[in-house]
Amino acid sequence: MEIAEKKEHIRKIVRRARFEGKTIGFVPTMGYLHKGHVHLIERSREDGCFTVVSIFVNPLQFGPSEDFERYPRNVERDIEILKEASVDAVFIPSNEEMYHVQHLTEINVLKLSEKLEGAIRPGHFKGVCIVVAKLFNIIQPDRAYFGWKDAQQLIIIKKMVADLDFPVEIVPVPTVRDEDGLASSSRNIYLSSEERKKALILSKTLHKLKEMVELDKISDTKILIAEAKKMISSENVVIQYIEAVSLETFEPVSRIEKNTGILVAIKAGDVRLIDNVIWD
Ligand code: AMP
Repeated sequence: MEIAEKKEHIRKIVRRARFEGKTIGFVPTMGYLHKGHVHLIERSREDGCFTVVSIFVNPLQFGPSEDFERYPRNVERDIEILKEASVDAVFIPSNEEMYHVQHLTEINVLKLSEKLEGAIRPGHFKGVCIVVAKLFNIIQPDRAYFGWKDAQQLIIIKKMVADLDFPVEIVPVPTVRDEDGLASSSRNIYLSSEERKKALILSKTLHKLKEMVELDKISDTKILIAEAKKMISSENVVIQYIEAVSLETFEPVSRIEKNTGILVAIKAGDVRLIDNVIWD
């Protein structure tokens, strides 16, 4: 596995792979890798791609009171995981490498970025879009793999790619869960065992909603959201939002049908967790 810290280096690696006729698959991450990330990598490998992973904790997507400083990092461990997963190249730029000059350019996917996560984390998606656009321009992948775990991010990136004609195919990958059902996430390490137990209500609730829709054929979102609120409130966690929305507009929907989802954010203690169930 080749390791590049400079843009020129990763460009050279990718140019060579492309010259050899390979398709470039790209998995952007913030590191502290877990099996969700590995699943994205596996998808890229299964698609026969020369697989490039980036590790960059992007300061622009964190608000001033958020956890940028304490976001978990362990590059050595990540490199071992990436080697084990047969990744071809990893790009690990510094902040200076990514943002060496003062940026005057913004990418704002209007409307979609203001709702749900965007309402709670103003500016978050602008930060996500600028870093992903830069990484796409640096690496120039044919395909890029994103997790449904961050459903709003995935849809916003798809819209950015469509609007700006990036020549890259966005490949959505289902959410991977830990054995207890909690969606795998780098931030799960923040949870105490007590908080983790409480947080499990999130995946349990989403599982129940999926059953209500698919087995009991209940599609009325009022009923589904009421049930979800009841279940989640049984634990001492705070619901930040729970909404049944269209996966195209993030506008609320009254019935679950194709291309809708229920997106949730809770706080267990100080730890924010997001999860969702989607019908795509
Ligand atoms: P992050 O490092 O948290 O920025 O995530 C990098 C990529 O991994 C994003 O596309 C995420 O949606 C995806 N991802 C994170 N957690 C999971 C998971 N549990 N299952 C599938 N994909 C995930």
